[in-house]
Amino acid sequence: MAIYTRAPMHEEPYEPQPVLHPSLTPETGGTVEASAVAPEAGGSVDAIALAPEASGAVEASEPARKPRVIALLNQKGGVGKTTSTVNLGAAFARYGQRVLLVDLDPQSNLSLHFGVESGPEQRTIRDLLLDPTCRIEDAVQTARPGLDFIPAVTELALVEGELAQQEGMQTVLRSKLEPVYGNYDIVLLDCPPSLGVLSVNALTVADEVFVPMQAHYLPLRGLEKLLQTVHLISQGLNPTIRVTGILLCMHDGSSSHARAVIGEIESQLAQFRGMDVPWSTATVLDPPVRRNIKLAEAPSFGQTIFDYAPKCPGADDYRRIAEQLLIGWGLPHGSFDGAAVGGNGSGAAVPKKRKATKGTKRGAKSTKPTGSSKSARNSAKKSAKSAKAASKITKKASATKAAAKVATKSAKPVKRAQATIAKASKANASKAARAARAVKVAKAGRTITMAKLTKSARTTPKAKPTKSARTSKPARSAKASKPAKPAKIAKPTKRPARRSLRSGGLSL
Ligand code: ADP
Ligand code: MG
Repeated sequence: MAIYTRAPMHEEPYEPQPVLHPSLTPETGGTVEASAVAPEAGGSVDAIALAPEASGAVEASEPARKPRVIALLNQKGGVGKTTSTVNLGAAFARYGQRVLLVDLDPQSNLSLHFGVESGPEQRTIRDLLLDPTCRIEDAVQTARPGLDFIPAVTELALVEGELAQQEGMQTVLRSKLEPVYGNYDIVLLDCPPSLGVLSVNALTVADEVFVPMQAHYLPLRGLEKLLQTVHLISQGLNPTIRVTGILLCMHDGSSSHARAVIGEIESQLAQFRGMDVPWSTATVLDPPVRRNIKLAEAPSFGQTIFDYAPKCPGADDYRRIAEQLLIGWGLPHGSFDGAAVGGNGSGAAVPKKRKATKGTKRGAKSTKPTGSSKSARNSAKKSAKSAKAASKITKKASATKAAAKVATKSAKPVKRAQATIAKASKANASKAARAARAVKVAKAGRTITMAKLTKSARTTPKAKPTKSARTSKPARSAKASKPAKPAKIAKPTKRPARRSLRSGGLSL
């Protein structure tokens, strides 16, 4: 299928570019070492030379430029790899880049984000990896203008075993991707949540690794293992691979723990600047992607965040990260949603696409969910709201009822005491005084009960003094008081210092 007919966008000779905007990485200037991606240094010279002939689409005289191939890798699931692959890819495409996304995860979630269903005849990443006759053109689908993807299948889980029996199993993906390098500016690889053969294939072809993760302590430990794996790959299969970005997902900026972890990551990474490790230029990508429910909702509508909720914080974060990266890479980033650039280079028929969602036209306003689903959502929201309000009212009503009951109960002793006063006045004054005190106490009791009900236990009795408080009193008063069983108070333990990345094994 001759779908790759578009000439490469950037015909100037290859110049390695800084990974991030220099302002983001003052220590290093944010540059990837030239050897990291330069064709002359990498093992990809052949690939670049071969690409035009292989696709038969690019003039022989035009130098085909290798796209930036980035693996989104984290052996932990649910950290935001697929969400970031899809939405960063969509943002790059809307900035006019030609983007290919590769789903390497057997959960095959990536295609769900595009509302594109594959027929049984659709070739997938499994075919590409196991069938020597399957070409990449057979597996590519177009999701949006400028945005192609290769879907996965659940049977991909079995591929690890089958691939393991093949010779050169780690480089299969690289050999399949190389022929179409000239057709894309950026290739993003959505890795599975493991460090098996599929991830190794991604690391063998990737120039860079982004690590999506949450700014929590435990994922930090996972980061160490991941970096060690990349280090191993860099010592053999792919000497030029670099970990360039830590992509913070589901970020809660208000959490002091998250801020502390970011500080920790940054300070630990800074210690490796200039060292001969693949993460010596890694930075925390800016901005972190905030936790935003719209990002979780979008796939259920078969939409990227820019289709579904283009103004939400999640869309803003991914767009800004994409913009910063493009600035750093020296790639065009002028207009978001700009002029259309066909992802497969030709605008040729999209292979085997059965269903695509609305709003895929570049430049068109991004679509919201279809009318029926939108109104369904709205009414669901409304009924949830009214249910909440109703339960509030019910709660208030029952609280008032209870309060009234208690008040009536408390009123009885008051009446009884008043009657006693009347009697007492006939007897003697002292009895009357005692009864008056009883009225006062009863009234006070009622007030307290009411206050308890309405102001949620503001009148809790004072806590017994703790052992430490008791012992801090003068010895005399301590002796005078009834000798109480000493309360068992857990000794406050000193919070242990957080283990650093370096101590955790990063010092390779
Ligand atoms: P992974 O690919 O690493 O397994 P996913 O990208 O599938 O992780 O994300 C896991 C879940 O978290 C998904 O349901 C996704 O919609 C949700 N999610 C991802 N990023 C965010 C975010 N920033 N805010 C809210 N939910 C998110
Ligand atoms: Mg995933």
